[in-house]
Amino acid sequence: MRAELAPQIEELKGKGITPGLSVVLVGDDPASQVYVRMKGKACENLGMHSETIRMPAETSEADVLAVVERLNDDPKVHGILVQLPLPDQVNEKRVLFSIRPDKDVDGFHPVNIGKVQIGDPTGFRPATPYGVQQMLIRSGVETSGAHVVIVGRSNIVGRPAAAILSQKGAGANATVTMCHSRTRDLPQVTRQADILIAAIGVAEFVKGDWIRPGAVVIDVGVNRVDDASVEKGYRLVGDVDFEAAKEVASQITPVPGGVGPMTITMLLYNTVQAARQWAD
Ligand code: NDP
Repeated sequence: MRAELAPQIEELKGKGITPGLSVVLVGDDPASQVYVRMKGKACENLGMHSETIRMPAETSEADVLAVVERLNDDPKVHGILVQLPLPDQVNEKRVLFSIRPDKDVDGFHPVNIGKVQIGDPTGFRPATPYGVQQMLIRSGVETSGAHVVIVGRSNIVGRPAAAILSQKGAGANATVTMCHSRTRDLPQVTRQADILIAAIGVAEFVKGDWIRPGAVVIDVGVNRVDDASVEKGYRLVGDVDFEAAKEVASQITPVPGGVGPMTITMLLYNTVQAARQWAD
């Protein structure tokens, strides 16, 4: 998909438009620093413009809003992303809602959330569930009529994944069940999945015997677990017990890899689409 974006970026550049992503990073959360660095690097590798506006952890909400307002008005900026989580004194909703919907490449503004719900293609789809859908399409997994079970109902992953995959249309048309911490007998529900999407945030939570033989498993989770055998002292694992699950599933995404890089790709994709609005 990144290779597919390259000619689109060249075409835009030919019209004097370099697709640009601005990332606002408040504070020094180590995982956020890594994500922001990866996003910036991916932009640069494709010849897109990228900038990261770093603000100290004690920044006031008014100062964050002022930066978003400046980016909203800057014609060189096509995509704006505010890295979450934000420090406690900054209201996440107020900041996300202040981003111009046509620059909201993360798809967290209510206008885009609404458009995704009603299947309006001008809405930006949040990068993670959008990437999940693209992985299914491009791996030849039939979603039409399939039973997709999503574990997790966050506004970032589970809920938009349900909206996207239950739409009428290609790469969708699924029958979706969304589970969460109050779901009764979760393994019994997950065993009914043709496609199981885990977005929980608990290391290796989904066991091998929770998966129907032949099911497709998409592991969204990224969790740090202690590992004294590596220099960093930890390693990353998903929400699925990969070793057990790979024996049962027909296809499964790895962690690290899989959904993480796809999320970045879809962010680039949304930014290029945002820039195209200015070309037409
Ligand atoms: P949230 O914490 O916002 O949501 C987690 C969801 O899992 C909630 O709906 C919660 O239920 C549910 N849950 C938690 N415990 C259980 C349980 N014991 N049984 C059933 N359901 C449970 O997480 P996110 O959606 O933001 O992220 C999920 C994971 O995906 C994390 O590991 C995160 O790091 C990763 N992630 C990865 C991305 C990528 O690019 N690869 C992008 C975004 C997230 P309830 O609502 O009832 O509390």
